[in-house]
Amino acid sequence: MNREEILTHLQQQSPYDLIVVGGGASGCGVALDAASRGLKVALVEKNDFAEGTSGRSTKLVHGGVRYLEKAVKKLDRGQYNLVRDGLRERALLLQNACHLSNRLTLVTPIYNWLEVPYVFAGLKLYDLLSGKSHIGHSRLLSRAEALRRFPMLKAKGLKAGVQYHDGQFHDARMTLAIALTAQQQGATIINHMALTGLVKTAGVIKGATLTDQLTGDDLSLNCTCVINAGGPFVDEIRKLDDPQTKALLTTSSGVHIVLDQRFAPPDTGLMIPQTEDGRVLFILPWEGHALVGTTDEPAPLSEHPRPLDTEIDYLLRHARSYFDLQIEPNDIKATWSGLRPLVANPTTNDTAGLARDHILHTSPSGLVTLAGGKWTTYRKMAQDTVDYAINHFPLEPATKECQTAHLPLVGSSDFDLLGGTKLAKRFAIEEETATYLNRCYGDQADQLLELGRSSDTLRPLAAGHPCLEAEVIYAVRFELAQRVIDILARRTHLAIVDTQAARTAAPRILELMAAELGWNQQRCDEEAKQTTRRLNEGI
Ligand SMILES: Cc1cc2nc3c(=O)[nH]c(=O)nc-3n(C[C@H](O)[C@H](O)[C@H](O)COP(=O)(O)OP(=O)(O)OC[C@H]3O[C@@H](n4cnc5c(N)ncnc54)[C@H](O)[C@@H]3O)c2cc1C
Repeated sequence: MNREEILTHLQQQSPYDLIVVGGGASGCGVALDAASRGLKVALVEKNDFAEGTSGRSTKLVHGGVRYLEKAVKKLDRGQYNLVRDGLRERALLLQNACHLSNRLTLVTPIYNWLEVPYVFAGLKLYDLLSGKSHIGHSRLLSRAEALRRFPMLKAKGLKAGVQYHDGQFHDARMTLAIALTAQQQGATIINHMALTGLVKTAGVIKGATLTDQLTGDDLSLNCTCVINAGGPFVDEIRKLDDPQTKALLTTSSGVHIVLDQRFAPPDTGLMIPQTEDGRVLFILPWEGHALVGTTDEPAPLSEHPRPLDTEIDYLLRHARSYFDLQIEPNDIKATWSGLRPLVANPTTNDTAGLARDHILHTSPSGLVTLAGGKWTTYRKMAQDTVDYAINHFPLEPATKECQTAHLPLVGSSDFDLLGGTKLAKRFAIEEETATYLNRCYGDQADQLLELGRSSDTLRPLAAGHPCLEAEVIYAVRFELAQRVIDILARRTHLAIVDTQAARTAAPRILELMAAELGWNQQRCDEEAKQTTRRLNEGI
């Protein structure tokens, strides 16, 4: 369906059981869970899917080694449950989105002999807690082995290393895959559509008003329940319900910098459990580059937070202290910042809170807010939310049982890990490109390549990157892309790993989108301006 058709469908299908607000991991997860139980669902996202925090994460699927430390040190059962849930969800995510995720080997370097038993025992406990969901055994590495796995690691003073495993994933494409799977299950999903008001009857929410961010047009939908999954913006949405409401969240910024591949080996990441100021630092291989993150500084609410120079300096300084390679500011190929929604008090009494890191809160007029949590546990958070909605609102799902634990996401059903080689031969393209497409699109990659062949767009979008022009046409026709930046930052990863390459590719993407969507000159000029602004000021 194109956008016009989706808009018509969106209005024709009203009233809905649920209107879900927010197209990040939480909102898309709720839409998928509810639709797969047979509820009638509309999902509205103000910008693009994953344009919020969900597209700016560290891209790790993890139980949370640091939570485990707290669980042990403070004998905190809540933290322990969080790790156990996280490890179970880690395994489900790796299984249900097998094309978009992989197991990642990580090394923790140790520069003090006294830390060896502590770190090793901690990571062994992490293995143990994963039980049947474990994805590899932790082991102690000699100094030489640690350097072999991560050759650029600072050798001076290195005593040993501990190797362990977590998952890694493509966060933006994963959000999209969840949204598209929700669509497949019958949900109506739309991006660039903001919730701007709530419609009440006798003080109870019975619908929502929406504003199309591309045209400015307003529309109204009726529903039984509205789920607020606005990430850092949940309090703004709650104010539409009650302008006097007290905030549930504060926000802090998490910045990442991206360096060239030579700063991380292709198959091993580095985890520094505690920098000198007590933070966790990761240096990870990601899409042919090295991802370094993250920071944690109080930050104001912003749709496109801009990394501060002080935050970039912090990451550079810390990365340098663990490397035997010189890193200069001009080695940075991209930077971005994500806002961490921090739940002010997760155990507050007026919540129907079920876990310690996310909350479900219901207002007197019936607005259900899901806030906090982490990417890895999005599916469980969605399950809790839909269970709650079914138990507290007059909803009649086809089944009350959650269906998502073993529901493959779009692209993963017939994914063949070695499919890249076959695609390379069949479409006469570079093996690296075919492997990239196989991982990003899974069993849909051949459809994309057929489209590319028939439209003569099997050409690279930017030198040195595997992304193809065909992805632009595919993203417009099948993945709801509406803006150039949607493609640069979320359908492909160009703007995430290499800002200069993104700038180079932008005019051709604009040209292809204009042809697909029938944009006039004025729209093209406006789009070019917007794209430049995003690439300069923060994606
Ligand atoms: C720096 C950083 C690194 C992280 N790394 C990891 C990690 O490696 N692994 C992990 O498991 N977790 C990680 N997390 C946590 C994880 O990213 C978040 O928990 C998760 O992405 C939150 O998703 P969300 O859907 O709740 O919020 P968001 O992704 O922010 O989605 C909310 C959406 O709501 C939309 N919205 C807001 N207002 C409206 C409106 N009025 N109408 C319509 N739509 C609206 C926004 O545009 C936005 O897209 C990280 C977090 C940060 C900040």
